[in-house]
Amino acid sequence: MKLSAENLDRLRALLSEPARRIVLLSHTNPDGDAVGSSLAWAAALRALGHSVTCIVPNKYPYFLDWMPGIDEVVVFKTDAEGRAVRALAEADLLFCLDFNAISRLEILSEAIGANTAAPRVLIDHHLAPAPEFDLSFSHPEASSTCFVVYCLIEALWGTATITREMAEALYVGLMTDTGNFAFSSLTPELFRAVAVLVERGIRIPDIHNSVYNAYTEDRARLFGYVINRKMQLIEQGTVAYMSLTEAEMRRFRFQQGDSEGFVNYPLTIKKMKMTAMFLAHRKFIRVSLRSRGEVDVNLFARRYFEGGGHKNAAGGKSFDTMERTIERYVAAVREFAAEGHLG
Ligand code: 5GP
Ligand code: MN
Repeated sequence: MKLSAENLDRLRALLSEPARRIVLLSHTNPDGDAVGSSLAWAAALRALGHSVTCIVPNKYPYFLDWMPGIDEVVVFKTDAEGRAVRALAEADLLFCLDFNAISRLEILSEAIGANTAAPRVLIDHHLAPAPEFDLSFSHPEASSTCFVVYCLIEALWGTATITREMAEALYVGLMTDTGNFAFSSLTPELFRAVAVLVERGIRIPDIHNSVYNAYTEDRARLFGYVINRKMQLIEQGTVAYMSLTEAEMRRFRFQQGDSEGFVNYPLTIKKMKMTAMFLAHRKFIRVSLRSRGEVDVNLFARRYFEGGGHKNAAGGKSFDTMERTIERYVAAVREFAAEGHLG
């Protein structure tokens, strides 16, 4: 990955003052890459003598609970003591990891504008970063933000500074955002980075088990239910969608993170080109989209569901009912296909 020498110099300058108070922010519904990149970057900054607070808008999935240092991540939604607002008010510097616009912080967005004017540094791999950052390490060619963080650490301080805990955190992001090294952007550099993380002492089978084989029985049954009863195919079986209502989620004692990976599953069908998952929230429906090859769900999410993301993995929101959302999706897919976007 080519990091800008000028940007690296600017980052060095920002970090050259001693004992800065730094806040790391990551996106709503934080995933393995959001949490992994935050924890690893926090550890790297603390090693320089800075004091660091990691803040996420809402809770991370329970299968990340084992990650070293995760207990110190402040969850804004349930932050009764006001730790997040205090840390923001005192911050000298903000890092924004694994998202491309402050609006992606949702319930946390306003607290940023209201409490801090500290410089904002973006470290991310999503397309189309907003122009609201003072310094940007935006690398859409990278498979994960953890890989961008790895490259930054390598360029700034060398990989010998990566502890085993940092290596574990980084590996979680590399692994989850590439679908366990199955999606695009799998470069030789990425596997060289993995080799270094192994040298730093990570045990890949342990991390794999901790993340992918740590679900509840309810989640396994919910998965069966969704695929068997809720998966619908349209466009001659080349496009799929699934949905979960709040009542269905209650029935399977749904926990944050339980639907992780569901949206990918229809893509195991050979001729599938694009899939969607609609997850009911109190105030809106969260839309998750996945695609194969040239089908661009980032474009689809931007156009039809006020969202964005990557070419093959994107998301957005719908403020309609579930029925209406599905109707809109089916019509949008038809329009998208008619314009030739489904190949
Ligand atoms: P997921 O389906 O796993 O929640 O998200 C897939 C990708 O889409 C992620 O890269 C995520 O950042 C992006 N994404 C999900 N929801 C939204 C959204 O509401 N707006 C934007 N811009 N991106 C989203
Ligand atoms: Mn990511």
